[in-house]
Amino acid sequence: MWTKYVMIVAIGAVLAVAGCDREAQSPPGGASGGRPVVVATIWPVASLVQQIVGEAADVRCLVPPGITPHGFEPTGRDAEAMRRCVALVCVGMNFDGWADGSLRRFAGKDTPSLHLAELAGGDHDDHDEHAQADDHTEHAEHAEHDDHDDHDHTGPNPHVWVDPVLMHEAVIKLGEQLSKLIPDAAEDIYQNTQHLADELAAVDAAYRKELEPFKGRNIVTYHNAFDRMAERYGLHVAVTLTPIDAPGAMTPKRMEQAIEAIDKYKLRVLFAEPQFPEDAASAVRAETGVQVMTLDPIGDANDPQRDTYQKLMRYNLDMLIKGLSIQ
Ligand SMILES: [Zn+2]
Repeated sequence: MWTKYVMIVAIGAVLAVAGCDREAQSPPGGASGGRPVVVATIWPVASLVQQIVGEAADVRCLVPPGITPHGFEPTGRDAEAMRRCVALVCVGMNFDGWADGSLRRFAGKDTPSLHLAELAGGDHDDHDEHAQADDHTEHAEHAEHDDHDDHDHTGPNPHVWVDPVLMHEAVIKLGEQLSKLIPDAAEDIYQNTQHLADELAAVDAAYRKELEPFKGRNIVTYHNAFDRMAERYGLHVAVTLTPIDAPGAMTPKRMEQAIEAIDKYKLRVLFAEPQFPEDAASAVRAETGVQVMTLDPIGDANDPQRDTYQKLMRYNLDMLIKGLSIQ
């Protein structure tokens, strides 16, 4: 099915958007030079795409820094980028389903939407009982899982990008797809993808090694963005301050649970997130005396500490080690 997309690109009818919001994404010299555009929903995804396409395309990130992607609404400029893009790259699993909706509205029906969760094979891996059912088209057999359309609330955790093992898998597949969509740069994209995959393997190795001494430890996070990372490396998220369907709002019950967990596990730190207001974390700090540290699921193109996927992941690893080391 990819050949028709290759043909669309080969016609050369794709115009690039005139630069991006972020200098980090701008090509040297500033002009987009008629290059293809790839749209990504959130910064970590945009960073991975940017490293794969290199100079071969302009990457447009939809969600600006400091804003949560949950419930995001694209703007008019985003619509223009979607109209012109060769592909949308998103997280998938309904995490950023709003982007798919906009793509269908603004782009031709043949413009592909590439879901990292799907490329990583991580879109159903929480459903252990499905392990042998490699044919997911037979959902009719799984009548008990009639909630597959409602992943935001009841399905597997969609924050797949915080797991570098899943992203290693995903970028290799993503590189293949993007090289078909931008065939003139296929060789460069292949090389870039190999390099990126090596770097993600190094990130995974660092997490494995540095978190080894902390296996089994409990953490409290703001929302459920880090569950997959915790599971991968042997940590346990004891409680999140807010539920996924309403990040930003802490109920009295959640607060009580957080205070109980902090007391029970003798926790010294809780991890807040820069995309959300500090109220919830501050309230728990006032009650318990924990230190509030940051785990950042999104990153920021304008922050040199967190302006690539790899730096963001290493920043979070540093924060975890610091927080877990407090006696
Ligand atoms: Zn989230």
